[in-house]
Amino acid sequence: MMQPVTAVKGIGAERALELATLQIETVQDLLEYFPYRYEDYRVRDVSEVEDGEKITITGTVYGEPVVRFYGAKKSRITVKVVVDNVVVTAIWFNRGFLKSQLRAGREIMLSGKFERARLQIMVSEQHFLDTERAGVQEGTIQPVYSTTGGIQVKQIRRFITSALAQFEGAIDEILPDDLIRKYKLASRSDAIRNIHFPESVQAGKQGRRRLAFEELLLFQLRLQAYHAVNRQSRDGVAQHIPLEKVREFIHGLSFPLTNAQKRVVKEILDDMQASYSMNRLLQGDVGSGKTVVAAIALLATVEAGYQGALMVPTEILAEQHYETLSELLTPHGIEVALLSGSATVRKRRDILSGLQSGLIQIVIGTHALIQEDVYFARLGLVITDEQHRFGVEQRRILREKGLNPDVLFMTATPIPRTLAITAFGDMDVSTIDELPAGRKPIETYWVRHDMLDRILAFVRKELDRGRQAYAISPLIEESEKLDLQNAIDVHAQLSQHFAGTYRVGLMHGRLVPREKEEVMQQFSRNEVQVLVSTTVVEVGVNVPNASVMVIYDAERFGLAQLHQLRGRVGRGAEQSYCILIADPKSETGKERMRIMTETNDGFEVAQRDLELRGPGDFFGTKQSGLPEFKVADVVQDYRMLEVARQEAADMVRGEAFWSSPQYRALRAYLKQDEYFLTKIKD
Ligand code: ADP
Ligand code: MG
Repeated sequence: MMQPVTAVKGIGAERALELATLQIETVQDLLEYFPYRYEDYRVRDVSEVEDGEKITITGTVYGEPVVRFYGAKKSRITVKVVVDNVVVTAIWFNRGFLKSQLRAGREIMLSGKFERARLQIMVSEQHFLDTERAGVQEGTIQPVYSTTGGIQVKQIRRFITSALAQFEGAIDEILPDDLIRKYKLASRSDAIRNIHFPESVQAGKQGRRRLAFEELLLFQLRLQAYHAVNRQSRDGVAQHIPLEKVREFIHGLSFPLTNAQKRVVKEILDDMQASYSMNRLLQGDVGSGKTVVAAIALLATVEAGYQGALMVPTEILAEQHYETLSELLTPHGIEVALLSGSATVRKRRDILSGLQSGLIQIVIGTHALIQEDVYFARLGLVITDEQHRFGVEQRRILREKGLNPDVLFMTATPIPRTLAITAFGDMDVSTIDELPAGRKPIETYWVRHDMLDRILAFVRKELDRGRQAYAISPLIEESEKLDLQNAIDVHAQLSQHFAGTYRVGLMHGRLVPREKEEVMQQFSRNEVQVLVSTTVVEVGVNVPNASVMVIYDAERFGLAQLHQLRGRVGRGAEQSYCILIADPKSETGKERMRIMTETNDGFEVAQRDLELRGPGDFFGTKQSGLPEFKVADVVQDYRMLEVARQEAADMVRGEAFWSSPQYRALRAYLKQDEYFLTKIKD
């Protein structure tokens, strides 16, 4: 199976080069090059066909073809075909060259869309059965593959047919028998044969089902095995946390923790006290109070004698977290530092030496915190906030510095369960699914552009009551320059509108950190009442007095992003509002606006977004960490994903998995991953 494709009869060096452009290099690659759809050449009885269905029929050409020309270079050709004593009109567009071939009496097979009322077929593919019979497998379902340039679908069909003939016997089963029996799965070789050339619709579906399950199971197995091995290992730090100190701290907060916060704090502290290293995701909707949970964990690590680091994606957030955390932790005698990109050389040197000596107990900064020249005396806990993927690589860097800290990931992007177990299956997940009491739900409105005057009047009314507002300018995909121009336009417009009464500030990605900080400061001190911004305010900014969020051209933003932006208001005691200005053209666009007005719950927004867009688009970026599956679809196959996860988790928990021959193929699969190489024997 690992032989080069040239081992397949009919594939020479030249073909092999072309196949390589499709990433097909070995026989196995070829056999696992699955079709993305099928052509159904099973011949149907026209009397059973529904209107508009795509069908294949065979019949005899009857009478002369008629060609009509219209427009520039456009033509239409029609001919009568007798199919089981019914006369059907076959129609082609721009296929004038067929005229000479459509001779009366010739047997022909036609595939295309059938119009029942007129007994017409719009032909997409035809085969003359007297000369071409060999070219198509009449009466079958044929696979369609994606191809590029040199290779045709028909050739791939032929290559795979010969590969199956030669190598089908070499396709080994990799799943254990009991799983195959339990879920009535097709064998691996049956599945591969049938996903290419289904013996029947049913067999094709079974083949697909088996391969999707295998794919999801292998994926989950890797995550679960990683998890299990990590848990067993004793190479993390078991922190001895004086819990009474933690309790005291919680007691001293200006508010009681919600039940959800209490629960996740316990989950986190339990992990920190254990001898494995924590690998936990903390998810919670915007405003659910993750920051204070982070503060508690940081305090705990310091009280246990370790240092803590908080990594955030932007300088603004670093600044803001620094303030919040200093306020909470400094009174407890904890030394908190901000390692900012704009710090002077000297300041930076002081902080680095403070971290190395252990004098600084908590440090906040961007990603560079754990890299380069930064050394810690006793790093116990790393918290990363928002979209950071803190992966294997970062852990390796830390281990090389002799550290294996507990790691907590925080995210305010609620992830639907199906995606969470796909993207984060190797982590433990803690969820804050409750907002602090007394929060008023944000009222969200969707309005058209022509209502702008009324919206501005509404904003003014809120400003008159002492509140503040955000105005998010339109987003132009992949054009920072146009984004900036938009922000400038909106800023000019609003400055003019509020001239003499209120001040309007402008925030965008081109400002240097110091300028951003300055603008944010002005807004949080209420020296500026309206903040016009590109999406840089998206994550984490906290100005409780702001009660209005206006989003221009809201249809250009993803739902998750809109929800994040909306989360910037509703942080104080006042009623808050989110106004989406949008004239969406598509149904989906309208549906997305409706979803926003219907729910304030981030998890529900996320779930409905996922259903609307599918998993690929969900995170909007390639760095989502979501794997690409060849056969499985995490939305459609989510039940299967749950089953695969459960089976994988049960499997790695059992002794047998690590030693019994039944699982050798699966262990071999895991050992392709360097992490397991030394940890799995055979
Ligand atoms: P997020 O989860 O979006 O990071 P924050 O941690 O910024 O949320 O919290 C939002 C606001 O709610 C902050 O002003 C914080 O002080 C406040 N807060 C957090 N927990 C509670 C609570 N249990 N009761 C009341 N207010 C809380
Ligand atoms: Mg936050």
